[in-house]
Amino acid sequence: MRRKLAAGNWKMNGTGADLAEVTAMQAGLPKGAEAPEVLICPPATLIQRMAAMAAPIAVGGQDCHSAESGAHTGDLSAAMLLDAGASHVILGHSERRTDHGEQDEDVRAKARAALAQGLTVVICVGETQAQRESANTLGIIGGQLAGSIPDLVTGDRLVVAYEPVWAIGTGLVPTTDQIGEVHGFIRQRLERRFGAGVGRSVRLLYGGSVKPGNAAEIFAVADVDGALVGGASLKAKDFLPIIQALADAGAREQGQ
Ligand code: PEP
Repeated sequence: MRRKLAAGNWKMNGTGADLAEVTAMQAGLPKGAEAPEVLICPPATLIQRMAAMAAPIAVGGQDCHSAESGAHTGDLSAAMLLDAGASHVILGHSERRTDHGEQDEDVRAKARAALAQGLTVVICVGETQAQRESANTLGIIGGQLAGSIPDLVTGDRLVVAYEPVWAIGTGLVPTTDQIGEVHGFIRQRLERRFGAGVGRSVRLLYGGSVKPGNAAEIFAVADVDGALVGGASLKAKDFLPIIQALADAGAREQGQ
């Protein structure tokens, strides 16, 4: 049984004052065997402060450099994230791919660096609207998986987030059939490449306009092990119901 994961991506949002939201989230977390793992990836300026107060919520980075150190102004190494208290790092988010021109091979190199430091990597894949309209979704996802995930991974240190680019921050959400098709495809590709043991233990997150009102429906889809949540992870009043919906989905599965 894969433990559910609710991951928040705060993007370029949040200052010290917003740590109060994390305190409110802590107070409202579901308890018990079905409680999901919760992760928040704040801006780098908050990682250390958040990591000092957020337990049992884990803290992660939103990107790292592939090099251990050196002349890379403005960048952070995986070792720096770890040193600041991060346990995870998001890599290959579509905003990094678009804003910074990151290619699959860059994501793969960053993932290698992060795994070497003991971080868990959350690797993002997803098609654009045009790619979906040209019926190319699975080809794009297959290429991103093959190119972005390094060969040496273990199931507990790899998380894959399916984030259709057209659904991020737009309020648009794929149908549950569309989500199920892509998640089933990702699971199949992981099992084929890494074997059933690793392939079945990797958690697959859906990301793209997940909100309290649509979370339960999305979490009922096969092979959806949680969510990567942007806007709705910033406030406890929005993130907590999503976390609870995931706990409920876990409880239902355990009862089956
Ligand atoms: C994201 O940033 O990964 C994301 C899914 O954003 P939102 O939930 O706001 O669509």
